[in-house]
Amino acid sequence: MRTRGGRGSSRRTQRLLLWCAATDRTFERAVAADGRPVLTGKCIHCNTRHTITEDGAPLTSASIEHIVPRAHGGTDAIANLAIACNRCNYGKGHRLDDRPWHDPTLQKVIATLQERRAARMRPPPEWLDLPPLAPAEGREADDGA
Ligand SMILES: [Zn+2]
Repeated sequence: MRTRGGRGSSRRTQRLLLWCAATDRTFERAVAADGRPVLTGKCIHCNTRHTITEDGAPLTSASIEHIVPRAHGGTDAIANLAIACNRCNYGKGHRLDDRPWHDPTLQKVIATLQERRAARMRPPPEWLDLPPLAPAEGREADDGA
């Protein structure tokens, strides 16, 4: 199941969006037109700029990308998550997530995204008040399964 941003996004999605932004060095503190403090940073796929509030509510069409797709056992570990445009996420989902695990194109996309996510990784900034993660989130990927 895809987790979407936008209107009506769940608290869970907002929490994960906020954690992704907090741990992604492209996301910087900014002020929205209405004066709200926000975070702005880049889509993991196409570098389109996205904005979320400090509560994790997306003000642009941002969604949570699972780098290793959940269909292939990808978890909610923060290193497996990134912020992506709905359009980018949806496109990848349809083109790639249903391919067999050893499909070379799937493997290449995953490797590229993992590299990019690792390069952007940072410890959460101290000025950001982050909600606690649920037990299944934030951990390294489970092995086995
Ligand atoms: Zn994008």
